[in-house]
Amino acid sequence: MGEKYLMIPVQDLRHLELFCKNCQTGVVLDLADSGKGFPKQCPTCGAEFDRLGGLPEILGRYRRFYEDLAKAPVNARFRVKEE
Ligand SMILES: [Zn+2]
Repeated sequence: MGEKYLMIPVQDLRHLELFCKNCQTGVVLDLADSGKGFPKQCPTCGAEFDRLGGLPEILGRYRRFYEDLAKAPVNARFRVKEE
């Protein structure tokens, strides 16, 4: 039997959910909404999301990756192997 893959268009990677390591609260980011900043702390327990620094830069790079690939003159999608 062949391996099965989920095919995920890049446009469908628009929402990224961050989970607090302390209390598991999830915060959904909309990468297409560049006017919004990134959360600095957990809305439930107040844990710092950027304790080690650099998270806004990492998320900014991911947002640019999403934006650039989504408007590229090709259709791109991820192949995610199903277990
Ligand atoms: Zn939390």
